Amino acid sequence: MDTESFIAQSRPFLSWLVAWYNDLDTIELDSLAGDPTKVAIISVDVINGFCYEGPLASPRVRDIVAPIAALFEAAWSRGVRYIALSQDAHQPDAIEFAQWGPHCIRGTREAETIDALKKLPFFPQLTVFEKNSISSSIDTDLGEWLDDHPEIATFIVVGDCTDLCTYQLAMFLRLRANARQLGGVRVILPANCVNTYDLPVEAAQQTGAVPHDGDFLHLVFLYSMMLNGVTVVRQIAF
Ligand SMILES: [Zn+2]
Repeated sequence: MDTESFIAQSRPFLSWLVAWYNDLDTIELDSLAGDPTKVAIISVDVINGFCYEGPLASPRVRDIVAPIAALFEAAWSRGVRYIALSQDAHQPDAIEFAQWGPHCIRGTREAETIDALKKLPFFPQLTVFEKNSISSSIDTDLGEWLDDHPEIATFIVVGDCTDLCTYQLAMFLRLRANARQLGGVRVILPANCVNTYDLPVEAAQQTGAVPHDGDFLHLVFLYSMMLNGVTVVRQIAF
């Protein structure tokens, strides 16, 4: 494969992708929360170790903190009570550290929910799921929680990273509904409450890390979720 011809061949698709992203719809929270008992927000990895401190913290991810906290407050004020946090709480010898290095070990500050969420008056009423991989569904309590709440028809997914834990969570919810013929289930992903980290090629080569283009991977994985039936929107307005 030749780089220049690959880029040239991909240009029409990439142009379409950017236009699709720029043209994403805004959806009104009130249109989703007509019956708030059927709505859940599930947030993934909005914890110190991805927002503020430690080797995997990213300023791009930090930028989604404020809109996520605002969405939580707006949803809670409308009666949404199913708000859940899926969070890394790794064991000290986590296998995953082979890819990502040690991060978010259970009991450390990195593994704690960020203060902006902890200070919400209803924070004690949120449900927390601990995970030891980028999957929110493998060997966690999420599946049982979903089975206990079959009335939930609208899942709003927020958090990081777009191409990693967020993708895994949104796809799990979408595919679970598909596999079980749950026709009324919607999985909604507001792009302003989701992001991924950026590690330019040059910086990665200096440390021997794997590069990661934040904008490119954010768009491609939003597209992939949309392709699979996740409703990707610009934002949820309230
Ligand atoms: Zn992790």
